Amino acid sequence: MNNNVETREFQTEITQLLDIVINSLYTEREIFLRELISNAADATEKLRYCRLTENEISESEQPLEISIETDEEKHTLTITDNGIGMTKEELIENLGTIAHSGSKEFIRQLTEVRKAGSGSNTDLSLIGQFGVGFYSAFMVAEKVTLYTRSFRPDSESWIWSSNGAGSYLIEPGDQSNYGTRIVLQLKENAYNFSKADEINRIIKQYSSFVPYPVKVNGEKV
Ligand code: ADP
Ligand code: MG
Repeated sequence: MNNNVETREFQTEITQLLDIVINSLYTEREIFLRELISNAADATEKLRYCRLTENEISESEQPLEISIETDEEKHTLTITDNGIGMTKEELIENLGTIAHSGSKEFIRQLTEVRKAGSGSNTDLSLIGQFGVGFYSAFMVAEKVTLYTRSFRPDSESWIWSSNGAGSYLIEPGDQSNYGTRIVLQLKENAYNFSKADEINRIIKQYSSFVPYPVKVNGEKV
């Protein structure tokens, strides 16, 4: 095994949330795409803001847009932004822990509903409002791999990956662009999310007010 790979445990609340996300049935799981696009747009907005306020010009400027690629053969869906990216410390903080008591309360309630036995149709459509929208990716993905590099000069690139079962891996990447790319290896019952038509439909339904261009396989939605 590559000894640059580090295994880290999720904070308890995240493990509880992922257990629910992975093991319940949902009617509206397509909202995962809204969450990932909204994170991509937030990251892009943060970059734009830093540029305006810090006069920090990082390398060559990439277009402020969000690209989505579908691969029906590999059953993957990839979301790429040229936003602010994350350092290793930010990855660990943002995608391994939650500080907000509101998020913890949300997870506690979900866990109780599930224990009470009525959790098979858990409503997760509000997940984004509780600051844990990223984890909705595990409704459709058996594995999530995130490649990221911070826009700050001399940042290193990192790969974060997880199957959602208690822990995640972090290892050095070799990405030269700043920003974040998220690859979802879809669950067998979620292969429809590797179809471009389906993705275009979902974007029109949930993400039509995103303030940056969203492209699917190179074509603007
Ligand atoms: P929220 O967006 O409400 O903060 P999320 O669970 O959706 O909650 O995301 C958690 C955090 O992970 C974000 O606040 C952000 O710091 C980080 N993050 C997620 N996606 C990206 C991305 N594409 N680029 C940069 N940071 C990201
Ligand atoms: Mg979010």
